[in-house]
Amino acid sequence: MSGQEASFDLLVIGGGINGCGIARDAAARGLRVGLVEQADLCHGTSRWSSRLIHGGLRYLEHQEFRLVRESLRERETLLWTAPHLVHPLPLLVPLYQGARRGRWLIRAGLTVYDLLSLRKSLPPHRLLSSADALRLAPGLKPEGLAGAGYYFDAQAVFPERLVVENAVAAARSGAEILTRHRVERILVRERRVQGVECLDLRGQRRVRLAAAAVVNAAGPWVDRVLAGLDRDPPDMLGGSKGTHIVLPRFPGAPLFACYAEARSDGRPYFIIPWQGLLLVGTTDIRYRGDPDDASADPAEIDYLLAETRALFPAARLGREDILFHYTGVRPLPAGDGEDMGEVSRRHWLRHHGREARGLYSVIGGKLTTYRSLAEEVVDRVCSRLRGARRPCMTRRLPLPGANRDLLDVAAELAAYPDLPATARPRLLGLYGARAIELARLIETEPRLGHCIDERSGLLAAELLFATDTEFAGSLADLLLRRCMVGLGPDLGRSALPGSLQVAGEFLGWDQERQERERADYLAEIGRLRSGLPDVPAVQWRQSISANSSRPRPGR
Ligand SMILES: Cc1cc2nc3c(=O)[nH]c(=O)nc-3n(C[C@H](O)[C@H](O)[C@H](O)COP(=O)(O)OP(=O)(O)OC[C@H]3O[C@@H](n4cnc5c(N)ncnc54)[C@H](O)[C@@H]3O)c2cc1C
Repeated sequence: MSGQEASFDLLVIGGGINGCGIARDAAARGLRVGLVEQADLCHGTSRWSSRLIHGGLRYLEHQEFRLVRESLRERETLLWTAPHLVHPLPLLVPLYQGARRGRWLIRAGLTVYDLLSLRKSLPPHRLLSSADALRLAPGLKPEGLAGAGYYFDAQAVFPERLVVENAVAAARSGAEILTRHRVERILVRERRVQGVECLDLRGQRRVRLAAAAVVNAAGPWVDRVLAGLDRDPPDMLGGSKGTHIVLPRFPGAPLFACYAEARSDGRPYFIIPWQGLLLVGTTDIRYRGDPDDASADPAEIDYLLAETRALFPAARLGREDILFHYTGVRPLPAGDGEDMGEVSRRHWLRHHGREARGLYSVIGGKLTTYRSLAEEVVDRVCSRLRGARRPCMTRRLPLPGANRDLLDVAAELAAYPDLPATARPRLLGLYGARAIELARLIETEPRLGHCIDERSGLLAAELLFATDTEFAGSLADLLLRRCMVGLGPDLGRSALPGSLQVAGEFLGWDQERQERERADYLAEIGRLRSGLPDVPAVQWRQSISANSSRPRPGR
């Protein structure tokens, strides 16, 4: 059965960072935009990244100067247009005697990085003595430490929020955002794209959406989306999977991020302070399977753990210390080599002129460069469509949470008596200027100002806000991709009872729905702990809070 048609200038497939960035840019220029996402916003690769907004020091080894320059420019743009979500991040590069990349090479790399960052706001690099390096990362293995490079990049603690704010901005400019709609067929007539047919996964209805142009921004699913075309284009992707592990801060953990060379194979990897925890990654392994099935191999977890242990031997880390892990698939261009580290991280835009004029696919790309990618895509689409359009504005246009000075917002929040003072920093960090919208919501119903999870500080109002204004439809959407309490040390378990109670009272979820949502949520977070030793909840909670003082007998 087919539902009614809607008609757009541009239809975007995929609600990851690239799809939402494209929708935001196109809608701001006056196009009628639809965005179709098969699951939830930021359900794919964008949330499984290292969460860095970086130039990519490593890409200099492959002489990708253009990519580094573009990334550094975009890093600066995001620091100004999304200051509540993207923050400067200091990094240490420990220098060890006998490493593959010696002191002179690191110094040369950091100097070129500074040159490519000229006129940016972050300070230039410095070289530190080993004593200074140990002050900043007390647990670093001291043997052979010859000093450290010290430089700045940036971090998006929650790319999930970056994606959501792009979608919110797109919707404010008139875009229609359809989540839980899977594109099953691209409609083509006389070698010209006509739109898409998708399945509404909630209502199990087929829906046809007409569009003059279609952009396939389905990340690692790009080839699958194209599979039904009459003249099937060759596979364009050669995915690689990358895993991260999340650890509690251990005694001697670095105050700043460490960018280190793996002892076993010389690959660079990160240990990054992240919301009071440590994010360690990543691996880079060719992956040909369904992106939905990508998961961490035991060998990847062992590799990341062994490398962290080698750099911080006194921490004596074991598998039981891992809080959770996650794996994502990079939508890299197809290639034959097995060394995925050699494959460029830049993006390509392919126009399927032979099969379906007006259909484009996005291949590759980084979280960091999503805005410039979107600008390029929308420029190309606009040049195909008739009619005058506004120029791209996103280089200077703040995201919705950054449309006011955050100090002014903080001062204004203090005037709302029903908003607990302790909640303000959290709300500002997650929602920026939009925290005022939450405060107003609480003003209309003071019970929404209640904290429903002591561990994270989650307020009842956040669940309504995400449902009403941010396209959230399930408990996992709410906790894992909007309010961000699901990526805490206990994976949001402590927030479950309060969240379900609020959903029952304010969102109209009956008992059956609550039970189903709870089971789905537990299944989703279960994947993040698969293969890890089972820890009883009570002991787990204790180990998180007391990790630094925990005795470690016989390890
Ligand atoms: C391990 C790892 C670490 C990384 N670290 C960094 C980093 O630190 N910094 C950086 O800049 N970049 C990093 N990247 C790269 C970056 O994360 C990705 O390039 C980027 O997130 C890709 O975004 P996307 O929107 O193209 O894809 P995705 O985020 O995967 O979005 C695609 C969306 O399309 C949807 N979709 C698929 N099929 C359909 C369909 N049929 N119908 C409707 N919707 C569909 C999916 O559900 C998904 O939500 C990393 C990547 C990985 C894997």
